[in-house]
Amino acid sequence: MPDMSSLNLGPFPDADGYDQALALDEADPLQTYRSRYVHTDPDLIYLDGNSLGRLPHTAIDTVEEVTQRQWGDRLIRSWNEGWWELQLELGDLLAPILGARPGEVIISDSTSVNLYKLAMAALTAQPGRSKIVTDDLNFPTDLYILQGIASQTGTELVIVKSDGINGPLEGLDSEIGPDTALVTLSHTVFKSGYTYDIGRITELAHQAGALMLWDCSHSVGALPIALVRSDVDLAIGCTYKYLNGGPGSPAFLYVRSDLQDRLDNPITAWWGHAEPFAFDLHFKPVEGIRRFHTGTMPILSLAAAEAGIRDVVDAGIDQIRAKSVALSEYLIDQIDSHLRPLGFDLASPLDSGDRGSHVSVAHEGAWPLARALIEVGRVIPDFRAPDNLRLGLSPLYNGFLEVHTAIQRLKTITQTRVYERFSNVKTAVT
Ligand SMILES: *Cc1c(COP(=O)(O)O)cnc(C)c1O
Repeated sequence: MPDMSSLNLGPFPDADGYDQALALDEADPLQTYRSRYVHTDPDLIYLDGNSLGRLPHTAIDTVEEVTQRQWGDRLIRSWNEGWWELQLELGDLLAPILGARPGEVIISDSTSVNLYKLAMAALTAQPGRSKIVTDDLNFPTDLYILQGIASQTGTELVIVKSDGINGPLEGLDSEIGPDTALVTLSHTVFKSGYTYDIGRITELAHQAGALMLWDCSHSVGALPIALVRSDVDLAIGCTYKYLNGGPGSPAFLYVRSDLQDRLDNPITAWWGHAEPFAFDLHFKPVEGIRRFHTGTMPILSLAAAEAGIRDVVDAGIDQIRAKSVALSEYLIDQIDSHLRPLGFDLASPLDSGDRGSHVSVAHEGAWPLARALIEVGRVIPDFRAPDNLRLGLSPLYNGFLEVHTAIQRLKTITQTRVYERFSNVKTAVT
């Protein structure tokens, strides 16, 4: 076993692809965005922006302003000076990134809660239909919420089986039928990064008369989403991943405008009331997207999410996608050259058109490799059981030389077998 302090963590100017990586960073039109985010350790390579995005400097200023002035000085007057409208305003700011129109998006609650609200609303609106269709690539919380809904409403939940990497298109096609009320899937799936063709699947649902709900947690801010053009009924997603909104920042929710007054929020809370300050004893829903509000929002977290959304709008989602594709193709090249010979396999689709902005590799030692990479290699990926290392590429702050260096460090850790020392380490969050 080598002395860990003597491990070479780069730079690696002699390694294959180094000059190319440098040149690609120099030609990158988004390279100036990197400095908009907080970097406290110049040696750390962060490849987990698909789980928790980096902190934008402007978010610090916003939180300072909201605490010191809006809360500290203005106190309750702030509700009428911007807080009351903040969910809608930030929703409208985010709407173009989703291909949605003003008044179709709000930032509200968590993704789990928003899924509950919209899936229940969709089922209740179609009493003659008794089936929900999803797949086994969906994020576990989505499946748990759907299981709960199925048992509360007596609906059948069908989880279509995949090969573990690609969307099971044929299985979905054969399960979606005249008894289907709702089809709900992750747009980009959390493990392999497989990305559905939203238009194609939405059409499949609509041909059967079902409603379609997309969870865009792993795609929003990384690739263009055309919700209105694809005639999508409902969508939800996180703001703390590629939108860099902060830990636990409120999620978004989209309901196409013509559906808003036909669907009822199952959580009939006062922010969704037609006249919340009449303090009437009976619930009467407001018209429009506001009916999907629940109760008082965590204003500090909500306000903090604005900076990250603004950066994505400012950089342009097409430009972000172009860089994401270039970075991930470069990463896959590096995996092929340096990691495949060491027992790693690609666990993501090869074709960029079928992939979001993270790439997974499978290795039987993935867990100790992830720990060693973090502790010794100063690279943060994440681990997804049983054998996946997930490498998230956040185009606003990740670069080509970072990817190159991360792969060289992973290669060193694997070749020297340093990772075997981390086999028995356990953590609560992976
Ligand atoms: C990250 C993620 C979630 C997280 O939901 P929370 O309610 O924020 O915990 C849900 N769904 C998908 C598809 C995700 O990627």
